[in-house]
Amino acid sequence: MNKRTKKARQRRRKKNAAAAQAETRTNLNGDAKIFIAVAATFLVLAGLGLAKLKPQKKILLSAPEFSEFNAPGTPPQPVQPAPGEPPPVPPQAPAQNPQTFPPTPSGAIPVLMYHHVGDLPVAPDAIRRDLTVSTADFRREVELVDRLGYHAITAADLDGYMQGREQLPQKPILFTFDDGYDDVFQNAVPILTEHHMTGSFAIITGFVGQSGYAGWDSLAAARDSGMELVCHSEHHMDFTNRAYTPELKNAEVADCKKDLQDHLGIDSKIFVYPYGHFDAAIEQILRNNGFDLAFTTQFGLVRKGEAELVLPRVRVHGVENIETFQRNLGVRTFAAVTAK
Ligand SMILES: [Zn+2]
Repeated sequence: MNKRTKKARQRRRKKNAAAAQAETRTNLNGDAKIFIAVAATFLVLAGLGLAKLKPQKKILLSAPEFSEFNAPGTPPQPVQPAPGEPPPVPPQAPAQNPQTFPPTPSGAIPVLMYHHVGDLPVAPDAIRRDLTVSTADFRREVELVDRLGYHAITAADLDGYMQGREQLPQKPILFTFDDGYDDVFQNAVPILTEHHMTGSFAIITGFVGQSGYAGWDSLAAARDSGMELVCHSEHHMDFTNRAYTPELKNAEVADCKKDLQDHLGIDSKIFVYPYGHFDAAIEQILRNNGFDLAFTTQFGLVRKGEAELVLPRVRVHGVENIETFQRNLGVRTFAAVTAK
C-alpha cells in the first residue's frame, strides 16, 4: 500500500469514526440519557430485590423542562431508542414516565394544569391542539377524579397545608387553569360546580377582557361561585429573559397582585410562572411581594416540604386518553425518585 492510499484510508476511517460518534450523540440526546439511566437504575434495583425497600435518599435527576406552550407530546414525549437498541421500557408504559406508581402515593398531591377547555378554533396549530382539552374530555376527567374519591382544593388550601396551618381532605387534588381564557369559564367552571369542585385560575391581568380572555365580570362571577383567582403576571412576561430589568419584573408581579385586589378584592399569595420559566431572581421578587406558592410547568406531584416557589404540576394534554390521565395522577417526580 503506498503512502497516499494509506493516508486516504486513515482520513476516511477518522471521518467515519467521527460520523458514527456524531450519530451516537444525536441518538443519545439528553432526554434519552436520563431515560436510560433511570431505566437502568430500576433494572439494577429489581435485580437486587431492593425495589421494595422504602425510598430513603434523593437522587436529583433533572426532569425535562417544558415550556408552557410546548409542542404536543411533552411530557408525553416519546424517546426514540437508537436503531438496534431495545426500547428502554415496555411499549405500553408511557415513555415519558418511567416511574409509574398506583394512583396517589400517600402525601403526594396532583396539581393538574389546563389552558383551554372547549372547542378548537378553525385551523388550529399543533400547540393550540395540545393546549385545548375538549369539554367532553374535561367532563370525563372530572367524573373520574370524582369517582376515584379525590377532593378538589384551592391553591390557598395547599398554601395553608404547606405552612402547617391547615389540614387537607383525603385525596386532595388541585385543578389549575393558566392564562384566563374565556372558554374555561364557559365550559370548565360549570362542570366543576356540578361536581362540587373548585379550580384555580391564573390570570394575566393586563389581558383581561381582550379577545379570547375572560373579562372582569366573568372573573367576579367565578370568584362568587367558589373558584380561586391567582396571579400569572400582568403581561405574561418571561421572567428569565435578560432583556427585562429587575424593576420591570417587579412591576409585572406587583401590578398583577394589585389588579386582582382592585378589581376583585383578592389578595393572592399564589403565582404561576408564565411559560413555566423561573430563576432565583424572580423567586426573590415573589417573596418580596408576599407570595407563598408558585407553580412551574415541571412535571410531578406536590409534597409537603418541597420548595414552595417551584412546585410541579401535571399537564393535561389536548389529546390524551383517560388511562394516561389516570396514570399521571400517581406519577412521582423525577426529583422525588428515590433509591437506597
Ligand atoms: Zn401562561
